[in-house]
Amino acid sequence: LFRAAGEDRTNSMGANLANDDTLATLAREMNAALAPVSAMPLVPGAKPTGEKVKVSNPADRREVVGEYLNADAATVELAIANAVAAQPGWDKMPAASRARILEHAADLLEQRMGAFMAICVKEAGKSIASSVGEVREAVDFLRYYAMQSRKLFGAPEKLPGPTGETNELWLHGKGVFACISPWNFPLAIYLGQVAAALASGNTVVAKPAEQTSLTAFLATQLLHEAGVPRDVLQFVPGDGATVGAALTKDPRIAGVVFTGSTETAWVINRALAARKAPIAALIAETGGQNALIADSSALPEQLVKDAMTSAFDSAGQRCSAARVLYVQADIADKVITMLSGAMDELRVGNPALLSTDVGPVIDEDARKVLEAHAERMDREAKLINQVKLPEDTANGCFFAPRAYELKSLSQLEREVFGPVLHVLRYEASELDQVMADINATGYGLTLGIHSRIDATVEKIANTVRVGNCYVNRNQVGAVVGVQPFGGEGLSGTGPKAGGPHYLLRFATERVLTVNT
Ligand code: GLU
Repeated sequence: LFRAAGEDRTNSMGANLANDDTLATLAREMNAALAPVSAMPLVPGAKPTGEKVKVSNPADRREVVGEYLNADAATVELAIANAVAAQPGWDKMPAASRARILEHAADLLEQRMGAFMAICVKEAGKSIASSVGEVREAVDFLRYYAMQSRKLFGAPEKLPGPTGETNELWLHGKGVFACISPWNFPLAIYLGQVAAALASGNTVVAKPAEQTSLTAFLATQLLHEAGVPRDVLQFVPGDGATVGAALTKDPRIAGVVFTGSTETAWVINRALAARKAPIAALIAETGGQNALIADSSALPEQLVKDAMTSAFDSAGQRCSAARVLYVQADIADKVITMLSGAMDELRVGNPALLSTDVGPVIDEDARKVLEAHAERMDREAKLINQVKLPEDTANGCFFAPRAYELKSLSQLEREVFGPVLHVLRYEASELDQVMADINATGYGLTLGIHSRIDATVEKIANTVRVGNCYVNRNQVGAVVGVQPFGGEGLSGTGPKAGGPHYLLRFATERVLTVNT
């Protein structure tokens, strides 16, 4: 996977990976961990009858990474029945015991970091730096939810009452959770959703995005090895229209945790609402039309560096990514020239090389959607720069990162999920309108502000309704327990992943009142 020692390992996003011995060791481990993965539903008692799907590397579609067996209707049905039967026992287990299992899984994941990075690179086309971040975030989710579970589920909260009466508030799992996870964080969000549901006393039927079923399969096996019983966590690969729909229409599902598009969240919400069943919990983390506002007091070098990371890191395939840079007219020419120069330095290509900044997009469908957007932008906007694709990318799903200058935000009809940054100029007198336009999109995920004027920062941060606002830095890569992540409006329901309130949405509350 890796070039020989001595290659240029400094990528243009500023990460000097050459000096990192740990990374070099991980790189060797990755090399050793490339056996094709053969995945199947993990459902006790299921027959291996589903349809077989081949998985190819998005960076070179001639390379087969493995294959998986889709879960058929009977397998999904059995998984739900198993999960229903297993839930009371799992919920009765002391929270500390559940937490220890999750912490053991975190230890195992750290020991096998190279192998899990390898599958993130090969199946999802993640760069090496992104894959390191991915595994670290997954470890953080496991440890953080274990800690939260001890705190919230370990003992009841004592409530006040009159003399002669005790009152206790207990938290329990709701029942069976369906975890429906995305391909852009195939390990971290998959494990984050599953760990949160398990930590709260729920049993889980997990359906990952089809594109990254192998990563989720390996992560499920890891949790089983760490001690999660096989009927407590079951894995049902397949597509949304069949497996996803079978889960969300089933009256035995007590809650769904979903990360993906706003459109799919609506479909899930409607399916849950149509059931004649207890009202299900829905935790949805969806898209964004994320802006970065820079006024004329911004430091241009810092601004451009952060805009590059926010727009192009992970090939722009983060829901937190900056899609629109609003730059005050006084500094706009300078910033646009610097942005274009920085884009010339971007290295697009094989994500398995340490020097690569931007790997492929996830699949051909994603590439086609981006190409169609670029064609429209070529007609309706002004191209600032388009990164050159090297020749050896012809067999992969590569899309050249681009930046365009727009006339109005209304030119963007929907979230563009890839490495495209749109730039808009504004005059100081138009700031209120800029903020109103951003709010009018209805999304509310991330916002970047670059300004050295405290009053401006305060005004913007208090006016634009978003879940995560970042000032004078980039706006991606929220850290578990540090920047709890998630938005509002069209961007999701909350509560925030990696935050202190997340597990509460997976729980049911019971009060015990005793007349003593
Ligand atoms: N948590 C990630 C970040 O802060 C984004 C998650 C997502 O794309 O769903 O960049």
